[in-house]
Amino acid sequence: MNSLLNEMTSLIARQWIAGTTTNDAMNAALETSSTGKLPILNYLGEAYTKKQSVEHAIEVYDRLIDHINSSDIHASISVKPSQLGILISKKLFLSSYERVIEKAEENNLEVWLDMEEYEFIDETIKAYMHMLKEHKNIGICLQAKLKRTEKDAMHIARAHGAIRLVKGAYNEPENRAFKSDAQVSRAYISILEKINGKARSVIIATHDEKLIRKAMKLKRKAKTEMSFAMLRGVRGNLADELIGKHQKVHVYIPFGEEWLAYSIRRLKELSHALLIIRSVFQQ
Ligand SMILES: Cc1cc2nc3c(=O)[nH]c(=O)nc-3n(C[C@H](O)[C@H](O)[C@H](O)COP(=O)(O)OP(=O)(O)OC[C@H]3O[C@@H](n4cnc5c(N)ncnc54)[C@H](O)[C@@H]3O)c2cc1C
Repeated sequence: MNSLLNEMTSLIARQWIAGTTTNDAMNAALETSSTGKLPILNYLGEAYTKKQSVEHAIEVYDRLIDHINSSDIHASISVKPSQLGILISKKLFLSSYERVIEKAEENNLEVWLDMEEYEFIDETIKAYMHMLKEHKNIGICLQAKLKRTEKDAMHIARAHGAIRLVKGAYNEPENRAFKSDAQVSRAYISILEKINGKARSVIIATHDEKLIRKAMKLKRKAKTEMSFAMLRGVRGNLADELIGKHQKVHVYIPFGEEWLAYSIRRLKELSHALLIIRSVFQQ
């Protein structure tokens, strides 16, 4: 039963994931670039508890950065704290993160830091703020649905950090997170308004058309550089529409063998979207 479930998920997952190797990732990045969008490449893997796995991930990013450097595409990378050793030790996480940043910096590449489960947020932001003192080629993801995020966003924006704002992919209890779509969207826009003019740059990372329309209005008079981002395989038509309106659009492209956890998060969002559509037709 489990292997059947895995196979079904694998079939569905192919729309979201570029493949398993750095070559697959580069092919997807080239294809994305040829449509005028900017690839953000992510090597799949999370919750590492072995130093060898962390080392392997750093080597993959090392190779990937070399590949990007020898191509003429303009891409960035995005890393996960729990892939860089946050569960093993803070020291290992910091040193791994810095190794990736330095390699990227030598090659003029930007490094994004994904945001994961709630328990990692303090350490993730601390690591980002620490690195920001020495490195300018870095940005961090923040989850708008969390009640703490407005404060975190202001803290990072005041230090002139770069923020990729998402709704948030992890389930959180009511004391930590807004629960309704309306509340999350309100918080999202309010954060954008507050960090405008302070953050170095902002990526509006959502597939929510209503939110994108509101963000577009705000962007017209924004003092901070704002661009958009979507996930590979999700609402490609919307990304093309934004390109048609001369907007800068990034596409987050995951690759690697460890596709299951990522795909389950996307499957949950897909089923949430289908539920909304069904409820509209049942009215
Ligand atoms: C570039 C990028 C980077 C991200 N990085 C992180 C991160 O580091 N940490 C984190 O917690 N989250 C991250 N996310 C995920 C994010 O938090 C959301 O879980 C995800 O984007 C879905 O939310 P939404 O804003 O698109 O809004 P939703 O309300 O979930 O979706 C809006 C609409 O988009 C469409 N849609 C959404 N998901 C799917 C899907 N899987 N398949 C088909 N259609 C879909 C549907 O039409 C839906 O109605 C990232 C998202 C993006 C775009």
